[in-house]
Amino acid sequence: MNNPAKPPSILELYPEETREAAALLKKAVPLMMRHDIPPNPVHYALWYTYSKGLEPELNRRLDKTVADFDSFPPETAAKLFRDYIIHGELEEARAGQQQVIELVDGIEGSVSRSIIGSRNYQASLEHGLTALQEPIIEDLPNVLTELQQSTQLMQDQQDKFLYHLNAAQQEIKNLRGQLERAHVAATLDSLTQVFNRNAFSRLLEQTLNGDHLGVALVMLDIDHFKLFNDQYGHPLGDRVLQHVGQLLRDLLPARAIAARYGGEEFCVILRDCFDAATAHSFAEQLRLKIQALRIKVRRTDEVLDSITASFGFALAEGGDTLETLLTRADDALYQAKRSGRNQVNPGPSETALSA
Ligand code: GH3
Ligand code: MG
Ligand code: MG
Repeated sequence: MNNPAKPPSILELYPEETREAAALLKKAVPLMMRHDIPPNPVHYALWYTYSKGLEPELNRRLDKTVADFDSFPPETAAKLFRDYIIHGELEEARAGQQQVIELVDGIEGSVSRSIIGSRNYQASLEHGLTALQEPIIEDLPNVLTELQQSTQLMQDQQDKFLYHLNAAQQEIKNLRGQLERAHVAATLDSLTQVFNRNAFSRLLEQTLNGDHLGVALVMLDIDHFKLFNDQYGHPLGDRVLQHVGQLLRDLLPARAIAARYGGEEFCVILRDCFDAATAHSFAEQLRLKIQALRIKVRRTDEVLDSITASFGFALAEGGDTLETLLTRADDALYQAKRSGRNQVNPGPSETALSA
Protein backbone atom coordinates (compact mmCIF):
# COMPACT_ATOMS: atom_id res chain seq x y z
CA MET A 1 0.00 0.00 0.00
CA ASN A 2 1.37 3.42 -0.97
CA ASN A 3 1.83 5.98 1.74
CA PRO A 4 -0.05 9.22 1.03
CA ALA A 5 2.18 12.18 0.14
CA LYS A 6 3.48 13.63 3.38
CA PRO A 7 3.40 17.41 3.75
CA PRO A 8 6.89 18.91 4.06
CA SER A 9 8.20 19.12 7.60
CA ILE A 10 9.36 22.44 8.97
CA LEU A 11 12.75 20.82 9.37
CA GLU A 12 12.99 20.77 5.59
CA LEU A 13 13.04 24.56 5.69
CA TYR A 14 16.01 24.43 8.04
CA PRO A 15 17.80 21.32 6.95
CA GLU A 16 21.11 22.16 8.62
CA GLU A 17 22.68 19.82 11.02
CA THR A 18 22.94 21.12 14.58
CA ARG A 19 26.67 21.75 14.09
CA GLU A 20 25.99 23.81 10.97
CA ALA A 21 23.24 25.74 12.78
CA ALA A 22 25.62 26.44 15.64
CA ALA A 23 28.22 27.73 13.20
CA LEU A 24 25.66 30.08 11.68
CA LEU A 25 24.64 31.36 15.12
CA LYS A 26 28.30 31.92 15.96
CA LYS A 27 28.39 34.27 13.00
CA ALA A 28 25.03 35.91 13.75
CA VAL A 29 25.49 36.62 17.46
CA PRO A 30 28.65 38.75 17.13
CA LEU A 31 26.92 40.76 14.40
CA MET A 32 23.99 41.39 16.69
CA MET A 33 26.33 42.38 19.52
CA ARG A 34 28.26 44.69 17.27
CA HIS A 35 25.05 46.49 16.30
CA ASP A 36 23.50 46.40 19.78
CA ILE A 37 20.65 44.21 18.55
CA PRO A 38 18.56 42.99 21.52
CA PRO A 39 18.63 39.17 21.75
CA ASN A 40 15.08 38.04 20.97
CA PRO A 41 13.77 35.28 18.69
CA VAL A 42 12.85 37.65 15.86
CA HIS A 43 16.36 39.15 15.83
CA TYR A 44 18.02 35.77 16.11
CA ALA A 45 15.96 34.54 13.14
CA LEU A 46 16.91 37.64 11.05
CA TRP A 47 20.62 37.47 11.78
CA TYR A 48 20.73 33.71 11.49
CA THR A 49 19.26 34.04 7.97
CA TYR A 50 21.69 36.93 7.32
CA SER A 51 24.59 34.62 8.20
CA LYS A 52 23.30 31.97 5.80
CA GLY A 53 23.45 34.56 3.03
CA LEU A 54 20.68 33.01 0.95
CA GLU A 55 18.45 36.09 1.04
CA PRO A 56 20.59 38.86 -0.49
CA GLU A 57 17.76 41.35 -0.35
CA LEU A 58 17.31 40.72 3.40
CA ASN A 59 21.03 41.16 3.96
CA ARG A 60 21.00 44.43 2.04
CA ARG A 61 18.10 45.79 4.04
CA LEU A 62 19.64 44.69 7.36
CA ASP A 63 22.92 46.36 6.46
CA LYS A 64 21.04 49.54 5.56
CA THR A 65 19.02 49.49 8.78
CA VAL A 66 22.03 49.16 11.07
CA ALA A 67 23.75 51.93 9.11
CA ASP A 68 20.76 54.28 9.32
CA PHE A 69 19.72 53.74 12.93
CA ASP A 70 21.53 53.74 16.26
CA SER A 71 19.18 51.15 17.65
CA PHE A 72 17.38 48.55 15.57
CA PRO A 73 13.74 49.73 15.18
CA PRO A 74 11.35 46.98 16.38
CA GLU A 75 8.82 47.71 13.60
CA THR A 76 11.52 47.22 10.95
CA ALA A 77 12.56 43.94 12.57
CA ALA A 78 8.95 42.77 12.58
CA LYS A 79 8.48 43.74 8.91
CA LEU A 80 11.67 42.02 7.79
CA PHE A 81 10.76 38.97 9.84
CA ARG A 82 7.32 38.84 8.16
CA ASP A 83 8.72 39.42 4.66
CA TYR A 84 11.73 37.14 4.73
CA ILE A 85 11.30 34.64 7.53
CA ILE A 86 7.65 33.86 8.18
CA HIS A 87 6.39 34.18 4.63
CA GLY A 88 7.66 30.90 3.36
CA GLU A 89 7.16 29.28 6.70
CA LEU A 90 3.53 30.31 6.88
CA GLU A 91 2.78 28.28 3.78
CA GLU A 92 4.40 25.28 5.37
CA ALA A 93 2.70 25.99 8.65
CA ARG A 94 -0.61 25.94 6.82
CA ALA A 95 0.26 22.59 5.32
CA GLY A 96 1.22 21.45 8.79
CA GLN A 97 -2.01 22.80 10.21
CA GLN A 98 -3.92 21.00 7.51
CA GLN A 99 -2.12 17.85 8.44
CA VAL A 100 -3.07 18.35 12.08
CA ILE A 101 -6.69 19.02 11.14
CA GLU A 102 -6.83 15.86 9.03
CA LEU A 103 -5.20 13.87 11.76
CA VAL A 104 -7.61 15.15 14.38
CA ASP A 105 -10.55 14.63 11.99
CA GLY A 106 -9.41 11.08 11.41
CA ILE A 107 -9.04 10.59 15.11
CA GLU A 108 -12.45 12.06 15.84
CA GLY A 109 -13.95 9.83 13.19
CA SER A 110 -12.97 6.83 15.22
CA VAL A 111 -14.26 8.25 18.51
CA SER A 112 -17.70 7.68 19.99
CA ARG A 113 -18.15 4.13 18.84
CA SER A 114 -18.44 3.10 22.45
CA ILE A 115 -15.36 1.86 24.23
CA ILE A 116 -13.94 0.32 21.08
CA GLY A 117 -14.20 3.75 19.51
CA SER A 118 -12.29 5.15 22.41
CA ARG A 119 -9.55 2.56 22.11
CA ASN A 120 -9.26 3.27 18.36
CA TYR A 121 -9.05 6.92 19.25
CA GLN A 122 -6.13 6.32 21.51
CA ALA A 123 -4.46 4.01 18.98
CA SER A 124 -4.85 6.70 16.31
CA LEU A 125 -3.37 9.26 18.63
CA GLU A 126 -0.45 7.08 19.52
CA HIS A 127 0.12 6.39 15.86
CA GLY A 128 -0.15 10.08 15.02
CA LEU A 129 2.20 10.98 17.83
CA THR A 130 4.84 8.54 16.66
CA ALA A 131 4.47 9.66 13.06
CA LEU A 132 4.80 13.27 14.06
CA GLN A 133 7.80 13.04 16.30
CA GLU A 134 9.44 15.45 13.95
CA PRO A 135 7.46 18.57 14.71
CA ILE A 136 5.65 20.32 11.91
CA ILE A 137 4.53 22.92 14.36
CA GLU A 138 6.51 23.18 17.57
CA ASP A 139 3.42 22.65 19.68
CA LEU A 140 2.00 19.68 17.79
CA PRO A 141 3.36 16.93 20.04
CA ASN A 142 2.00 18.81 23.06
CA VAL A 143 -1.40 19.14 21.46
CA LEU A 144 -1.44 15.46 20.66
CA THR A 145 -0.22 14.53 24.10
CA GLU A 146 -3.05 16.55 25.59
CA LEU A 147 -5.50 14.82 23.28
CA GLN A 148 -4.06 11.49 24.26
CA GLN A 149 -4.35 12.35 27.94
CA SER A 150 -7.94 13.43 27.51
CA THR A 151 -8.64 10.21 25.63
CA GLN A 152 -7.12 8.24 28.47
CA LEU A 153 -9.37 10.20 30.80
CA MET A 154 -12.35 9.45 28.60
CA GLN A 155 -11.44 5.78 28.55
CA ASP A 156 -10.97 5.75 32.31
CA GLN A 157 -14.39 7.34 32.67
CA GLN A 158 -15.90 4.76 30.33
CA ASP A 159 -14.20 1.97 32.26
CA LYS A 160 -15.53 3.46 35.49
CA PHE A 161 -18.95 3.80 33.89
CA LEU A 162 -18.82 0.15 32.76
CA TYR A 163 -17.73 -0.86 36.23
CA HIS A 164 -20.64 1.01 37.78
CA LEU A 165 -22.97 -0.37 35.15
CA ASN A 166 -21.87 -3.92 35.95
CA ALA A 167 -22.22 -3.21 39.66
CA ALA A 168 -25.69 -1.75 39.03
CA GLN A 169 -26.64 -4.77 36.93
CA GLN A 170 -25.48 -7.09 39.69
CA GLU A 171 -27.45 -4.99 42.18
CA ILE A 172 -30.53 -5.18 39.95
CA LYS A 173 -30.06 -8.96 39.68
CA ASN A 174 -29.83 -9.22 43.47
CA LEU A 175 -32.89 -7.03 43.90
CA ARG A 176 -34.79 -9.05 41.32
CA GLY A 177 -33.84 -12.22 43.20
CA GLN A 178 -35.00 -10.66 46.46
CA LEU A 179 -38.23 -9.52 44.81
CA GLU A 180 -38.84 -12.97 43.37
CA ARG A 181 -38.19 -14.53 46.75
CA ALA A 182 -40.45 -11.93 48.39
CA HIS A 183 -43.09 -12.58 45.74
CA VAL A 184 -42.87 -16.33 46.30
CA ALA A 185 -43.00 -15.78 50.06
CA ALA A 186 -46.03 -13.54 49.58
CA THR A 187 -47.91 -16.00 47.40
CA LEU A 188 -46.79 -19.48 48.45
CA ASP A 189 -47.54 -21.32 51.65
CA SER A 190 -44.13 -22.10 53.07
CA LEU A 191 -45.14 -25.44 54.60
CA THR A 192 -46.94 -27.03 51.67
CA GLN A 193 -45.56 -25.05 48.70
CA VAL A 194 -49.01 -24.45 47.23
CA PHE A 195 -50.54 -20.94 46.99
CA ASN A 196 -51.53 -19.30 50.25
CA ARG A 197 -55.01 -18.04 51.01
CA ASN A 198 -54.37 -14.46 49.87
CA ALA A 199 -52.98 -15.54 46.53
CA PHE A 200 -55.82 -18.04 46.15
CA SER A 201 -58.50 -15.39 46.78
CA ARG A 202 -56.86 -13.04 44.29
CA LEU A 203 -56.50 -15.76 41.65
CA LEU A 204 -60.07 -17.00 42.09
CA GLU A 205 -61.40 -13.46 41.81
CA GLN A 206 -59.36 -12.92 38.65
CA THR A 207 -60.64 -16.19 37.25
CA LEU A 208 -64.25 -15.31 38.01
CA ASN A 209 -63.80 -11.82 36.54
CA GLY A 210 -62.87 -13.52 33.30
CA ASP A 211 -64.95 -16.28 31.80
CA HIS A 212 -66.99 -18.20 34.40
CA LEU A 213 -67.45 -21.09 32.05
CA GLY A 214 -65.42 -24.17 32.92
CA VAL A 215 -64.43 -23.01 36.42
CA ALA A 216 -64.93 -25.37 39.34
CA LEU A 217 -63.91 -25.05 42.95
CA VAL A 218 -62.95 -28.12 44.92
CA MET A 219 -62.48 -27.87 48.71
CA LEU A 220 -61.01 -30.51 50.95
CA ASP A 221 -60.53 -30.80 54.69
CA ILE A 222 -58.52 -33.48 56.47
CA ASP A 223 -60.69 -35.60 58.68
CA HIS A 224 -60.20 -35.58 62.43
CA PHE A 225 -56.90 -33.85 62.11
CA LYS A 226 -57.07 -32.50 65.59
CA LEU A 227 -57.04 -36.07 66.84
CA PHE A 228 -54.08 -36.86 64.62
CA ASN A 229 -52.11 -33.95 66.06
CA ASP A 230 -53.09 -34.94 69.55
CA GLN A 231 -51.98 -38.50 68.98
CA TYR A 232 -48.71 -37.98 67.04
CA GLY A 233 -47.75 -34.43 67.74
CA HIS A 234 -47.81 -31.27 65.67
CA PRO A 235 -44.54 -31.89 63.79
CA LEU A 236 -45.85 -35.11 62.29
CA GLY A 237 -49.11 -33.30 61.51
CA ASP A 238 -47.00 -30.80 59.59
CA ARG A 239 -45.38 -33.58 57.60
CA VAL A 240 -48.83 -34.88 56.67
CA LEU A 241 -49.81 -31.43 55.45
CA GLN A 242 -46.61 -31.35 53.35
CA HIS A 243 -47.51 -34.70 51.79
CA VAL A 244 -50.99 -33.51 50.94
CA GLY A 245 -49.48 -30.40 49.34
CA GLN A 246 -47.15 -32.59 47.30
CA LEU A 247 -50.08 -34.80 46.15
CA LEU A 248 -52.05 -31.75 45.07
CA ARG A 249 -49.11 -30.43 43.06
CA ASP A 250 -48.57 -33.84 41.47
CA LEU A 251 -52.18 -34.39 40.47
CA LEU A 252 -53.02 -30.87 39.40
CA PRO A 253 -54.51 -30.74 35.88
CA ALA A 254 -53.28 -28.13 33.41
CA ARG A 255 -54.21 -24.54 34.31
CA ALA A 256 -55.52 -25.62 37.72
CA ILE A 257 -54.45 -23.81 40.90
CA ALA A 258 -53.98 -25.42 44.31
CA ALA A 259 -53.94 -23.49 47.58
CA ARG A 260 -53.90 -23.99 51.32
CA TYR A 261 -57.03 -22.19 52.41
CA GLY A 262 -56.65 -22.69 56.15
CA GLY A 263 -55.00 -25.01 58.69
CA GLU A 264 -55.80 -28.41 57.16
CA GLU A 265 -58.10 -27.15 54.42
CA PHE A 266 -57.12 -26.96 50.76
CA CYS A 267 -58.78 -25.59 47.63
CA VAL A 268 -58.31 -26.32 43.95
CA ILE A 269 -59.53 -24.07 41.16
CA LEU A 270 -60.15 -26.22 38.11
CA ARG A 271 -60.29 -24.72 34.66
CA ASP A 272 -61.69 -26.30 31.49
CA CYS A 273 -64.04 -28.19 33.81
CA PHE A 274 -67.51 -28.01 32.24
CA ASP A 275 -69.37 -30.69 34.15
CA ALA A 276 -69.78 -31.99 37.70
CA ALA A 277 -68.46 -35.41 36.67
CA THR A 278 -65.01 -33.98 35.78
CA ALA A 279 -64.74 -32.13 39.08
CA HIS A 280 -66.05 -35.17 40.92
CA SER A 281 -63.57 -37.47 39.27
CA PHE A 282 -60.65 -35.18 40.07
CA ALA A 283 -61.71 -34.91 43.72
CA GLU A 284 -62.27 -38.65 43.96
CA GLN A 285 -58.80 -39.34 42.56
CA LEU A 286 -57.34 -37.04 45.17
CA ARG A 287 -59.39 -38.57 47.94
CA LEU A 288 -58.09 -42.03 47.07
CA LYS A 289 -54.49 -40.83 46.96
CA ILE A 290 -54.82 -39.17 50.36
CA GLN A 291 -56.42 -42.28 51.76
CA ALA A 292 -53.55 -44.33 50.35
CA LEU A 293 -50.91 -42.22 52.08
CA ARG A 294 -49.08 -44.22 54.72
CA ILE A 295 -47.77 -42.19 57.63
CA LYS A 296 -44.50 -43.84 58.61
CA VAL A 297 -41.98 -43.37 61.38
CA ARG A 298 -39.18 -41.29 59.87
CA ARG A 299 -36.51 -43.29 58.01
CA THR A 300 -38.36 -46.56 58.69
CA ASP A 301 -41.10 -48.57 57.00
CA GLU A 302 -43.11 -48.70 60.20
CA VAL A 303 -46.60 -47.47 59.35
CA LEU A 304 -48.13 -45.36 62.09
CA ASP A 305 -51.41 -44.41 60.56
CA SER A 306 -53.25 -43.08 57.53
CA ILE A 307 -55.55 -40.17 56.96
CA THR A 308 -58.66 -39.35 55.01
CA ALA A 309 -60.17 -36.14 53.75
CA SER A 310 -63.62 -34.90 52.86
CA PHE A 311 -64.41 -33.03 49.66
CA GLY A 312 -67.00 -30.60 48.43
CA PHE A 313 -67.07 -28.91 45.05
CA ALA A 314 -69.13 -26.39 43.08
CA LEU A 315 -69.17 -25.30 39.45
CA ALA A 316 -69.06 -21.55 38.86
CA GLU A 317 -72.23 -20.00 37.50
CA GLY A 318 -72.85 -16.65 35.88
CA GLY A 319 -72.99 -13.99 38.63
CA ASP A 320 -70.86 -16.02 41.04
CA THR A 321 -68.45 -14.12 43.20
CA LEU A 322 -65.54 -15.37 45.27
CA GLU A 323 -67.85 -15.57 48.29
CA THR A 324 -70.83 -17.25 46.61
CA LEU A 325 -68.69 -19.92 44.97
CA LEU A 326 -66.71 -20.51 48.16
CA THR A 327 -69.89 -20.78 50.18
CA ARG A 328 -71.37 -23.41 47.85
CA ALA A 329 -68.17 -25.46 47.86
CA ASP A 330 -67.89 -25.14 51.65
CA ASP A 331 -71.55 -26.19 52.08
CA ALA A 332 -70.88 -29.24 49.95
CA LEU A 333 -67.80 -30.07 52.07
CA TYR A 334 -69.86 -29.68 55.23
CA GLN A 335 -72.36 -32.15 53.83
CA ALA A 336 -69.50 -34.60 53.12
CA LYS A 337 -68.45 -34.32 56.77
CA ARG A 338 -72.00 -34.80 57.93
CA SER A 339 -72.45 -37.78 55.69
CA GLY A 340 -69.56 -39.62 57.30
CA ARG A 341 -66.33 -38.02 55.97
CA ASN A 342 -63.82 -39.47 53.50
CA GLN A 343 -66.09 -38.74 50.56
CA VAL A 344 -66.66 -36.27 47.74
CA ASN A 345 -69.87 -34.29 47.88
CA PRO A 346 -71.19 -32.14 45.05
CA GLY A 347 -73.12 -28.97 45.84
CA PRO A 348 -76.94 -29.09 45.39
CA SER A 349 -76.89 -27.75 41.83
CA GLU A 350 -74.01 -30.10 40.89
CA THR A 351 -76.03 -33.01 42.25
CA ALA A 352 -78.91 -31.97 40.04
CA LEU A 353 -76.56 -31.58 37.07
CA SER A 354 -74.89 -34.92 37.51
CA ALA A 355 -78.23 -36.75 38.10
P1 GH3 B 1 -62.92 -32.60 61.00
O1 GH3 B 1 -62.88 -33.96 60.50
O2 GH3 B 1 -64.31 -32.20 61.42
O3 GH3 B 1 -62.35 -31.66 60.03
O4 GH3 B 1 -62.08 -32.60 62.28
P2 GH3 B 1 -60.72 -31.87 62.49
O5 GH3 B 1 -60.12 -32.29 63.78
O6 GH3 B 1 -59.84 -31.97 61.31
O7 GH3 B 1 -61.22 -30.39 62.53
P3 GH3 B 1 -60.90 -29.20 63.50
O8 GH3 B 1 -61.22 -27.94 62.76
O9 GH3 B 1 -61.55 -29.40 64.83
O10 GH3 B 1 -59.33 -29.21 63.71
C1 GH3 B 1 -58.40 -28.79 62.74
C2 GH3 B 1 -57.08 -29.12 63.25
O11 GH3 B 1 -56.05 -28.91 62.29
C3 GH3 B 1 -56.69 -28.26 64.46
C4 GH3 B 1 -55.23 -28.11 64.36
O12 GH3 B 1 -54.56 -28.87 65.37
C5 GH3 B 1 -54.87 -28.70 62.99
N1 GH3 B 1 -54.02 -27.80 62.31
C6 GH3 B 1 -54.35 -26.63 61.73
N2 GH3 B 1 -53.26 -26.07 61.15
C7 GH3 B 1 -52.22 -26.94 61.39
C8 GH3 B 1 -50.83 -26.91 61.03
O13 GH3 B 1 -50.32 -26.01 60.40
N3 GH3 B 1 -50.07 -27.97 61.47
C9 GH3 B 1 -50.58 -28.99 62.15
N4 GH3 B 1 -49.79 -29.99 62.52
N5 GH3 B 1 -51.87 -29.01 62.50
C10 GH3 B 1 -52.69 -28.01 62.12
MG1 MG C 1 -60.86 -27.79 59.21
MG1 MG D 1 -60.50 -31.24 59.49
